[in-house]
This record gives sequence, structure tokens and C-alpha cells, in this order.
Amino acid sequence: MGGVLWLYTTYRCARCGSPLVFAESNGRIVLSCRNCGISVWMSESSVRQFNRDGAFMWRELMASLHLAYVVRSALLEGKAL
Ligand SMILES: [Zn+2]
Repeated sequence: MGGVLWLYTTYRCARCGSPLVFAESNGRIVLSCRNCGISVWMSESSVRQFNRDGAFMWRELMASLHLAYVVRSALLEGKAL
């Protein structure tokens, strides 16, 4: 992972339970599990949509990233949702 900034989140990997890592690199944000190697990302233009009236909606952004992660890890495991 080549992120210039990263941190552990309170979200856990749906597959192994490890804390998910949030990273930012060149305007793109990534949520990933270092144990499973699964990651989801969001482009800069998508991230901008979470800016409402000058307030950045971090909670909503993290919730949608985490939802994308859950879906992706389930698809990779071949589970039905
Ligand atoms: Zn994992």
C-alpha cells in the first residue's frame, strides 16, 4: 500500500476480524484489510460528494466505504448476500 497517510479504523474485516486500514493517496481513499489483502477505494470526485454545505460527512463516507468492503469481501468468498 503506497498511501501517504493511513490509520486503523474501528471497522473490522468481515472475513478475518482484523481492523480495517483507511488510507489516502493522491486524493483517492482506500479501505483495506492487511491480513486478507482485500481493499475498496473511492475516487476524488466521489469523495467530494460527501462535502455538504462546507461540512465533510466523515461518518457517512466511512459507512459507505465499509458497506462496499463487506460486499466485496462477500463476493470474493462466493457467499450469497
Ligand atoms: Zn481480513
